[in-house]
Amino acid sequence: MDFAHKTAHRIANESDIVVFEDLNVAGMQRFNGKMVADNIMGLISGLTRYKVELRGGIHHEIGRFERTTGVCSSCGQHHKLTLKDRYFTCTRCGLASDRDYSSAIAVERKGELDLMANGTVVRASKSPNTQQKLGVKTKVFALVKLPLGSEEIDKAAD
Ligand SMILES: [Zn+2]
Repeated sequence: MDFAHKTAHRIANESDIVVFEDLNVAGMQRFNGKMVADNIMGLISGLTRYKVELRGGIHHEIGRFERTTGVCSSCGQHHKLTLKDRYFTCTRCGLASDRDYSSAIAVERKGELDLMANGTVVRASKSPNTQQKLGVKTKVFALVKLPLGSEEIDKAAD
Protein backbone atom coordinates (compact mmCIF):
# COMPACT_ATOMS: atom_id res chain seq x y z
CA MET A 1 0.00 0.00 0.00
CA ASP A 2 2.87 2.36 0.89
CA PHE A 3 4.63 1.54 -2.39
CA ALA A 4 1.41 2.09 -4.37
CA HIS A 5 0.84 5.50 -2.76
CA LYS A 6 4.43 6.65 -3.30
CA THR A 7 4.46 5.46 -6.92
CA ALA A 8 1.09 7.10 -7.68
CA HIS A 9 2.23 10.31 -5.98
CA ARG A 10 5.42 10.44 -8.05
CA ILE A 11 3.61 9.78 -11.35
CA ALA A 12 0.88 12.34 -10.58
CA ASN A 13 3.43 15.02 -9.71
CA GLU A 14 5.63 14.46 -12.75
CA SER A 15 2.96 14.86 -15.43
CA ASP A 16 -0.24 16.74 -16.17
CA ILE A 17 -1.43 14.00 -18.50
CA VAL A 18 -1.10 10.39 -17.40
CA VAL A 19 -1.98 7.49 -19.69
CA PHE A 20 -2.44 3.97 -18.40
CA GLU A 21 -3.01 0.73 -20.23
CA ASP A 22 -5.96 -1.34 -19.04
CA LEU A 23 -4.04 -4.49 -18.20
CA ASN A 24 -7.06 -6.75 -17.65
CA VAL A 25 -5.90 -7.55 -14.15
CA ALA A 26 -8.64 -10.14 -13.62
CA GLY A 27 -7.42 -12.03 -16.68
CA MET A 28 -3.79 -11.75 -15.57
CA GLN A 29 -4.71 -13.12 -12.15
CA ARG A 30 -6.31 -16.18 -13.71
CA PHE A 31 -3.27 -16.64 -15.93
CA ASN A 32 -0.40 -15.94 -13.53
CA GLY A 33 -1.94 -16.90 -10.20
CA LYS A 34 -0.35 -15.34 -7.14
CA MET A 35 1.97 -12.98 -9.05
CA VAL A 36 -0.66 -10.27 -9.51
CA ALA A 37 -3.10 -11.48 -6.86
CA ASP A 38 -2.87 -8.25 -4.86
CA ASN A 39 -3.73 -6.19 -7.97
CA ILE A 40 -0.98 -3.66 -7.31
CA MET A 41 -1.24 -2.25 -10.85
CA GLY A 42 -4.97 -1.58 -10.52
CA LEU A 43 -4.33 0.08 -7.16
CA ILE A 44 -1.55 2.31 -8.55
CA SER A 45 -3.71 3.27 -11.56
CA GLY A 46 -6.67 4.16 -9.32
CA LEU A 47 -4.57 6.15 -6.85
CA THR A 48 -2.80 7.97 -9.69
CA ARG A 49 -6.14 8.90 -11.24
CA TYR A 50 -7.31 10.36 -7.93
CA LYS A 51 -4.09 12.33 -7.36
CA VAL A 52 -3.66 13.65 -10.92
CA GLU A 53 -7.32 14.74 -11.22
CA LEU A 54 -7.12 16.46 -7.84
CA ARG A 55 -4.29 18.56 -9.33
CA GLY A 56 -6.42 19.36 -12.40
CA GLY A 57 -4.58 16.92 -14.64
CA ILE A 58 -5.87 14.21 -16.93
CA HIS A 59 -5.85 10.47 -16.32
CA HIS A 60 -6.63 8.45 -19.42
CA GLU A 61 -6.82 4.72 -19.94
CA ILE A 62 -6.36 3.23 -23.38
CA GLY A 63 -8.36 0.18 -24.45
CA ARG A 64 -7.45 -3.30 -23.34
CA PHE A 65 -7.20 -4.58 -26.89
CA GLU A 66 -4.89 -1.84 -28.15
CA ARG A 67 -1.68 -3.38 -29.48
CA THR A 68 1.26 -1.96 -27.46
CA THR A 69 3.73 -4.84 -27.08
CA GLY A 70 6.41 -5.25 -29.74
CA VAL A 71 5.56 -2.03 -31.57
CA CYS A 72 8.67 -0.28 -32.91
CA SER A 73 8.77 3.25 -31.47
CA SER A 74 10.52 4.54 -34.59
CA CYS A 75 8.53 3.12 -37.52
CA GLY A 76 5.49 1.46 -35.89
CA GLN A 77 6.25 -2.05 -37.20
CA HIS A 78 4.59 -4.78 -35.10
CA HIS A 79 6.60 -7.75 -33.79
CA LYS A 80 5.36 -10.93 -32.17
CA LEU A 81 7.22 -11.34 -28.86
CA THR A 82 7.14 -14.11 -26.29
CA LEU A 83 7.17 -13.29 -22.56
CA LYS A 84 10.92 -14.06 -22.54
CA ASP A 85 11.74 -11.45 -25.20
CA ARG A 86 12.79 -8.38 -23.21
CA TYR A 87 14.53 -6.72 -26.17
CA PHE A 88 13.86 -6.80 -29.88
CA THR A 89 15.35 -5.43 -33.07
CA CYS A 90 12.91 -3.98 -35.56
CA THR A 91 12.62 -6.11 -38.70
CA ARG A 92 11.81 -3.02 -40.79
CA CYS A 93 14.08 -0.20 -39.56
CA GLY A 94 16.61 -2.06 -37.40
CA LEU A 95 16.05 -0.08 -34.19
CA ALA A 96 17.00 -2.06 -31.06
CA SER A 97 14.35 -1.59 -28.37
CA ASP A 98 13.61 -2.45 -24.79
CA ARG A 99 10.23 -4.22 -24.73
CA ASP A 100 8.76 -2.23 -21.82
CA TYR A 101 10.11 1.11 -22.99
CA SER A 102 8.69 0.69 -26.50
CA SER A 103 5.35 -0.40 -24.99
CA ALA A 104 5.30 2.74 -22.82
CA ILE A 105 5.84 4.88 -25.93
CA ALA A 106 3.00 3.06 -27.73
CA VAL A 107 0.68 3.66 -24.74
CA GLU A 108 1.68 7.34 -24.64
CA ARG A 109 1.03 7.83 -28.38
CA LYS A 110 -2.34 6.08 -28.28
CA GLY A 111 -3.33 8.19 -25.27
CA GLU A 112 -2.36 11.40 -27.06
CA LEU A 113 -4.36 10.39 -30.13
CA ASP A 114 -7.41 9.48 -27.98
CA LEU A 115 -7.31 12.79 -26.08
CA MET A 116 -6.89 14.83 -29.27
CA ALA A 117 -9.61 12.83 -31.07
CA ASN A 118 -12.16 13.36 -28.29
CA GLY A 119 -11.27 17.06 -28.13
CA THR A 120 -9.81 17.09 -24.61
CA VAL A 121 -6.45 18.52 -25.69
CA VAL A 122 -4.75 20.02 -28.74
CA ARG A 123 -1.05 20.06 -29.42
CA ALA A 124 0.22 23.53 -28.49
CA SER A 125 2.06 25.30 -31.28
CA LYS A 126 4.59 26.98 -29.03
CA SER A 127 6.63 25.47 -26.22
CA PRO A 128 6.95 27.36 -22.95
CA ASN A 129 10.25 28.94 -21.96
CA THR A 130 10.60 26.48 -19.11
CA GLN A 131 11.22 23.78 -21.73
CA GLN A 132 14.96 24.53 -21.85
CA LYS A 133 15.31 24.47 -18.08
CA LEU A 134 13.71 21.07 -17.73
CA GLY A 135 16.43 19.32 -19.70
CA VAL A 136 13.99 16.66 -20.83
CA LYS A 137 11.88 16.68 -23.97
CA THR A 138 8.41 17.75 -22.93
CA LYS A 139 5.43 17.67 -25.25
CA VAL A 140 3.03 20.53 -24.73
CA PHE A 141 -0.73 20.25 -25.02
CA ALA A 142 -3.40 22.84 -24.38
CA LEU A 143 -6.50 21.80 -22.50
CA VAL A 144 -9.64 22.23 -24.60
CA LYS A 145 -12.25 20.87 -22.23
CA LEU A 146 -12.16 19.57 -18.71
CA PRO A 147 -12.10 15.81 -18.37
CA LEU A 148 -15.26 14.06 -17.22
CA GLY A 149 -15.81 14.25 -13.48
CA SER A 150 -13.73 17.40 -12.92
CA GLU A 151 -16.88 19.39 -12.03
CA GLU A 152 -17.27 17.34 -8.85
CA ILE A 153 -13.63 17.96 -7.96
CA ASP A 154 -14.13 21.73 -8.41
CA LYS A 155 -17.19 21.61 -6.19
CA ALA A 156 -15.37 19.60 -3.54
CA ALA A 157 -12.52 22.14 -3.56
CA ASP A 158 -14.85 25.11 -2.87
ZN1 LIG B 1 11.16 0.09 -36.76
